[in-house]
Amino acid sequence: MTARATCLHRAVDLDGFRRAVYDIAVSAQPFDVREHFVVVPTGAAADELRRTLEQFAWQDGHAALCLPRIGTRGDLLDTLAARLAPPPSRLNAFDREVLLARAARDARDAGAEPPFQVRPGLVAEMLLLYDALRRQLRTVDRFEEFLVDELAASDDHGAVRMLAQTRFLAAAFHGYEAQVAASGRDDEHTLRARLIAEPCARPLRRVIVTVTDRVADPAGLWPSDLDLLARLPGLTHLDVVATETRLAGGWLERLHAEMPGIDERAVPAGAGRRPVCLVPSTDAWIFTSRDREDELAAFARRLKAERRAGRLAADARVALVVRRPLPYLYLARDVLGRAGIPYDTRDTLPLAAEPIAAALDLVFEWVTGNFTRAATLAVLRSPHLRFTDGEASLAGAAVTALGRALADARYLGEVTRLTSLVETWSALPERRRHQHARQALPAARAAALAAQALQPLRDPQTVATHVATLLAFFEVHLRPLDDADPLHERETRVRAAVLGACRALAEAYAAFDPEVTLDLAVVAAAVRRWLGAQTFAPATGHDGVQIVDAATAPYGLFDEVQIVGLIDGDWPERERRSIFYPAFLLQSLAWPEERKRLEGARAAFLELLGLARERFALSTVSLEDDAVVEPSAFVHEVETLAPPRQVATADGTTRIFPWEALAIDPPAPDVFTGDVRAWAALRLARSPRGAPEFHGESGPWLLPRVSVSRLERYLDCPFKFYASQVLSLEEPPEDEDTRTPLERGLFLHELFERFFTAWMAAGHGAITAALLPEAQQRFEALANEALATLSEGEAAIERLKLFGTAGSPGIARRVLAMEVTRGGQVVDRLLEYEIEGAFTFTAVDGRTRELSLRGKVDRIDLLADGTFHLIDYKTRAVPDPKRALQLPIYSVCVEQRLAGYRGRHWTLGDASYLSYEGTDPLVGLVKKADDLRGRLAEAQGQMLDVLDGIAGGHFPPQPAERSLCNYCAFAAVCRKDYVSDEPAVAGTAGPGAPAGEDGADA
Ligand code: SF4
Repeated sequence: MTARATCLHRAVDLDGFRRAVYDIAVSAQPFDVREHFVVVPTGAAADELRRTLEQFAWQDGHAALCLPRIGTRGDLLDTLAARLAPPPSRLNAFDREVLLARAARDARDAGAEPPFQVRPGLVAEMLLLYDALRRQLRTVDRFEEFLVDELAASDDHGAVRMLAQTRFLAAAFHGYEAQVAASGRDDEHTLRARLIAEPCARPLRRVIVTVTDRVADPAGLWPSDLDLLARLPGLTHLDVVATETRLAGGWLERLHAEMPGIDERAVPAGAGRRPVCLVPSTDAWIFTSRDREDELAAFARRLKAERRAGRLAADARVALVVRRPLPYLYLARDVLGRAGIPYDTRDTLPLAAEPIAAALDLVFEWVTGNFTRAATLAVLRSPHLRFTDGEASLAGAAVTALGRALADARYLGEVTRLTSLVETWSALPERRRHQHARQALPAARAAALAAQALQPLRDPQTVATHVATLLAFFEVHLRPLDDADPLHERETRVRAAVLGACRALAEAYAAFDPEVTLDLAVVAAAVRRWLGAQTFAPATGHDGVQIVDAATAPYGLFDEVQIVGLIDGDWPERERRSIFYPAFLLQSLAWPEERKRLEGARAAFLELLGLARERFALSTVSLEDDAVVEPSAFVHEVETLAPPRQVATADGTTRIFPWEALAIDPPAPDVFTGDVRAWAALRLARSPRGAPEFHGESGPWLLPRVSVSRLERYLDCPFKFYASQVLSLEEPPEDEDTRTPLERGLFLHELFERFFTAWMAAGHGAITAALLPEAQQRFEALANEALATLSEGEAAIERLKLFGTAGSPGIARRVLAMEVTRGGQVVDRLLEYEIEGAFTFTAVDGRTRELSLRGKVDRIDLLADGTFHLIDYKTRAVPDPKRALQLPIYSVCVEQRLAGYRGRHWTLGDASYLSYEGTDPLVGLVKKADDLRGRLAEAQGQMLDVLDGIAGGHFPPQPAERSLCNYCAFAAVCRKDYVSDEPAVAGTAGPGAPAGEDGADA
């Protein structure tokens, strides 16, 4: 065993911490340092430390400095593996998952039945558990022995499940180890054993550990790493460098337990003074913003104001310290980019967040959803894909038309259906093609061809076959990159990484599980998870504000620091819990205690408070994803430390974002140039925001024809009426899996019309209790005839609606029984009664107007007492009676039309909706008969108001109920956001506004 010196370098502060690493590097110049390795938590920290060491060397007057190798614990293993002769063949992460998935399948086949379904995501979790176990220096036998002992004694349901799970996991882990051995390649654990057992010709001589252990730092060393360093052949020096703050957080105690007898060396404090804490006021230590975007904007504003005031030197190094790079890296592009503040980051982004990964996901959804209409449109519209019809690229209008045409054709998916639609539309002579189908044909042809190419993915295949099909698709359809695009280089790298991940997955299956066939959904889940786990380093390519994560920050030199996003759950981070076992069981297998983890996290935070050489600030947010969040409890640590502070007053007047040239008074459009300047001038010349035009006033408009249902839309929301009737915007089509509401309504109308015509022809009047069985029998016979004309599936749905079940009578029984309950003698029934002509309407306030109307009443029952019952069939839920105009207005019209019919006067006795939807199929216009005349008068007034509103061009976005906005097809073109939050503008008439004199008389 190699004799080695172990030394703990105890630094008073971060300056001393970095200097200690530098001193070791300098002491080994120039050649020995190449045999040194510095362990840091992240790749970004390695970059930052290299920069810091070079800066120290420059300050100390060294012409050149040979740097040691610097990397994470994973990089250390790679470096050591590369020095073995011959270098070992390694299993990559894809290989390992495939091996474990296969071992899990074998374990289950051998009788170790797991209490869950083994999905790819679960295999990844199993691998995490296995790795954690082995890194805690526990064997699979020890794991099984301990847990079986603990769980076997209990007959509790949970314990029984966990016991079965343990036996399954142990069998799978044993199988995995056997397969690793059989593969002739090494994973992390077998490699570690080889590194200890096999001396290498050119060993690393010195390892400098600058991280803590895994207990306090997710990127820290595991017991297996410390064991390796203690036994590694050829290693003569092992140094641990840490600040007193981190040591006091439990690291010192654990280090002495792991390395008894380690020497200690005190590292003096750096020359810097205690940093000043910038605070928003004398009674607060932390800046609070609404959300992370506002937080970044406030940071940018403060930075610019400080620089302009000369309080921050132009060359000062500024760091924004984040817990995780996201979402700050994305926000920085917008917020700092627009504020003209350059920034730099060495952090990585998840590959899954790159747009090309979204395109891959779209294709997965398209195939697994069986090529539905919405997914087809999404794929055709993806900016990362390119589809052509012949040589021509698809126009956006063709894709939009395809959406309509597929909805019209009630397309619900399947390649064969899509192909047959293309054939049908192509075969029709041009003049007979429906407009949508004609415009849609190019997009339909392109979609059908692409779907045919992907159709093989619908069947279970080997992963290699699935991936080959996918790659062939992308080969044809990935949009070529434009060389002049500034994102060209990044996009090229990302595409290579994403498609490379697919290839690596296929290669792993081909090597270790070549026969298995999988559904695409399983492959898609594996790829998605992989992309989520892989990261990608974007090249920001600027100097400027450094965006660094909390683990990386201590390795850099910064004058000014802001620690952002200090919310509960991030500082400290919540622990990622095992999905297999509760914490108390895992602790018995050497998993760290939560208390120790929190102590370590607190120490790391305290260390960051000493990072800045000049000043630091802390900030938090109130909202995260629109949910209220609490500030981190760590904020109280600042109060305890009580650093010197300086109030940084908020600056609301400095313009830093382009839009503030217009948003802050007085406007300064001169800062813009070219088109932007012209646009800004136009915008400033625009009518003021308080002008009626901003609030739905469009000017007089002539309603071409009075339609009561359209007036009801105005009552729902005037702007909705404006969008659909004045602007003629089309509503997005819906996918109908059965017949449309219109078709279903017609079916119901015709059925009841046939029944009542036949009923009256048979000499019957009202349906009485005595006649009810006969009525039901007749209705059923007619219904069966009608249902026979429908498809089997549609007939089953309609039958259920009509006749219900044993516990819930259908619409037919309830309608027929209604007549029995209503009583009265029916002398006539008017079915599908047309009303057309001029009618007089009188409001409660005495306004009277004659209007021309046309409509059709579904059914009118004339009773012997001179009253009539008006019934309107509804295929959807009945409208809100307060806004429903059709029943009362038609009732008024019918009263006028029936004057003298059968030689007498008829008055409305009742009015009801008969609906397919809702619990009650028959809904009266009013609850009490006494209210009927009042509702008629009120509805006439509403109608006159609405007509006046329309004629006057009053179309404010004022929904009768806010919930209507949730389902509104015009939400995207509606200014509801700011209009609804402001008081009504004087002079703006809503639905209930007084009538003007220019009322619409159609
Ligand atoms: S979104 Fe709301 S306010 Fe806007 S048009 Fe629709 S219903 Fe009216």
